[in-house]
Amino acid sequence: MAISYLNGQWQAKEEATVSVLDRGFLFGDGVYEVIPVYAKKPFTLEKHLQRLGDSLNEIHLSNPLSMEAWTHLVIEGIERSGEHNAAVYIQITRGADTKRNFVYPETVNHTIFLMIDPAPILERVEIKPYNFVTMEDFRWQKGHIKSVSLIAAGIIKNEAIAQGADDAVLIREGKVTECSASNVFIVVDGVIVTPPKSKHLLHGITRDQVIAVATEAGLNVEEREISSAELTLASEIFITSSTHESWPVGSLNGQSVGNGEGGVIWQEVDRLFQELKARL
Ligand code: PMP
Repeated sequence: MAISYLNGQWQAKEEATVSVLDRGFLFGDGVYEVIPVYAKKPFTLEKHLQRLGDSLNEIHLSNPLSMEAWTHLVIEGIERSGEHNAAVYIQITRGADTKRNFVYPETVNHTIFLMIDPAPILERVEIKPYNFVTMEDFRWQKGHIKSVSLIAAGIIKNEAIAQGADDAVLIREGKVTECSASNVFIVVDGVIVTPPKSKHLLHGITRDQVIAVATEAGLNVEEREISSAELTLASEIFITSSTHESWPVGSLNGQSVGNGEGGVIWQEVDRLFQELKARL
């Protein structure tokens, strides 16, 4: 059952409300995390809480809770939801001020919001490759912050859907960055390649896990820039995110990628990731 937490209160998410003066509502002044849950256990929770702390630092907002308190809250939420495979969403904003003002308030009353929703996609029953298009990465220069100011991602996703695709691979100054809500990997000559960490992309936790398991298994992985020309020549393309694990891209700009079914290297990466899940 989906459930939410707002500033100390557990309730159905439809019932949770925030002030119109909340800076999250007025300015998108907040950050978030999404943590996958398997068999009632949060996966790589520490890494998500670490990144949450990093995002808060980047926007000069104090962390309202300790690592321990966050861990307890997340575990309590999973318990209350009763879900086995789920996604825990955490959002923190700079709270409500007395008026609309760009200047940060001196005293901050954070808004702390969590929701726990079932995540059927994590059951990986049917993995149908996605169709992607390429699009210019017109987002801001702080893509490493997991900010709730997500209108750019919304524009990209909806433009991709309007073009008959599922999402877009983003290109900044001729180089691949990521997708609207995931990191991207390609396979060239049997080598797995993904763009290096920078301020132009979110430092995805699934990305790190995929690189780790693939490297450990002896697959060749390179973190380096990918030109848009190289992207179109890739024999495989797949994306990674907490809600998708790794997922194949079957076509790019209407052209089939490999056989369009998800390639052998992606299959191996997926198998290694399932092993990692079982291990953790
Ligand atoms: N890039 C963007 C822009 C994202 O929003 C996300 C998360 N949905 C990711 C990458 C993947 O990050 P993670 O693997 O930590 O979920």
